Amino acid sequence: MGRLKQIFKGSISALFLALSALVFLQPTELEASSVPVIKTYRSPKNATRKQRRVTKFIVLHTTEGSARGALEKLSKNGECHYMIAKDGKIYTIIDKNRIAYHAGVSMWNGQTGLDSMSIGIEIAGYHNKEITSAQYASLKRLIAELKATYGIDDNRVLTHSMVAYGNPNRWQKRKHRGRKRCGMLLAKPENRHKLGLKSKPLYDPDVRAGRLIDADPELSKILYSRPKNITVAQTQTKPIPVTSTTTAIKPSTPTVVTNQVTQTKPNISAGTTTTTTQPLVFKLPSNIIGPGRSAWDIARDLYNSADTIYHFPDGSTKTGKEVKKWKSMPEGTRVEIGGGEESENPDVTLMEIGKDGTVLEITGDEILSETTFYFPSNKKGYYLRGSQQTQKKIEELPDGSFVLVGYKVGGPISARKPVFDICGLKWNMPDTYYFNPKKGTLKSGADIDEKNIPAGAYVFYQE
Ligand SMILES: [Zn+2]
Repeated sequence: MGRLKQIFKGSISALFLALSALVFLQPTELEASSVPVIKTYRSPKNATRKQRRVTKFIVLHTTEGSARGALEKLSKNGECHYMIAKDGKIYTIIDKNRIAYHAGVSMWNGQTGLDSMSIGIEIAGYHNKEITSAQYASLKRLIAELKATYGIDDNRVLTHSMVAYGNPNRWQKRKHRGRKRCGMLLAKPENRHKLGLKSKPLYDPDVRAGRLIDADPELSKILYSRPKNITVAQTQTKPIPVTSTTTAIKPSTPTVVTNQVTQTKPNISAGTTTTTTQPLVFKLPSNIIGPGRSAWDIARDLYNSADTIYHFPDGSTKTGKEVKKWKSMPEGTRVEIGGGEESENPDVTLMEIGKDGTVLEITGDEILSETTFYFPSNKKGYYLRGSQQTQKKIEELPDGSFVLVGYKVGGPISARKPVFDICGLKWNMPDTYYFNPKKGTLKSGADIDEKNIPAGAYVFYQE
């Protein structure tokens, strides 16, 4: 009896000791492993966002504007998981296990719709400008924590510019990489080194496989530049003004800038320090339309946005929405891109014949594709699949008809065939569309209420 009591007492004290050790240790451990975040901008959209089933990628973005404003917009629309301000403070926007809409039309290694399988981090700053050392330090800690949480390896920490792709437009006949330059400098080996990333993708798997064409070779040169054994001076690109500049830019200004950069950096492979001087020549993309530089070259997919303003040589201006004659845009027109990165989301994939160009301009080589769909404005309640039509019939579609390129269709939705079984987590993505044949309406997934999914509708989602 006494012995038992003793054992009992012994285990009680052992338990007490273990507990107190836990109580004592736990907070310290937590502090050491979790990155402090600020919750004042946590998005109200969290309530409507489903949990991700898989997390395969971390996608890095630059806000293309200051943190002020960006935070409010990102929070209001739930467009990323974290935002890192210039001082290194990390704001949480969408809870890390839920879906944020940050990648838009995206593809990596054949997988599309990366929002459903990735974490998005916005960094206050510009794609062509170095971020602050405080931002590097915070981003490094955050990436390390997320990598450990989700088991993501270094080669799956990508920039938005690596994964964004564009459907055909009036300048690109095919699906293409180069729709965004977002976050591009974070792909450079020396910058990844600062982020504690030891390896990086050395080529674009989708371009290599022929799924996409490379529409921005200057970008791909930066994204897939290789780590060098001999230390090379870092590139110092001048920030290109994204919003309007107060100084007038002469259309004749040459755009080649020569930078002489001298820098001392430890030579990682040899373990010695070397100083390298290397002249670097950059062709800075100017914001003036001229020979070989179209509105698309300057504004990319924001070329026809209401936030993009064209300043014509005669002094008049038009927004991207108002421009009709793209081909006869006068040389010397200055392009002012407004709104920044925040204005990209949700991506517009639904195109309208007439407003967004001719059907050939909208679809390019995909005009008769199995994954291109048409919604004739003169035949409400019907949709046409490109592969089942003739070119003549498609070219005759009236203005006001809608087009989706790169889509799959499922349905009609019913109790036995719920939308979740058709397209899974993509059911409420902004670039998923519900076509109601009875009403002839097209609605974005972002406007669909879970309790009110239209029976009989067809759902169009990105491949
Ligand atoms: Zn981005």
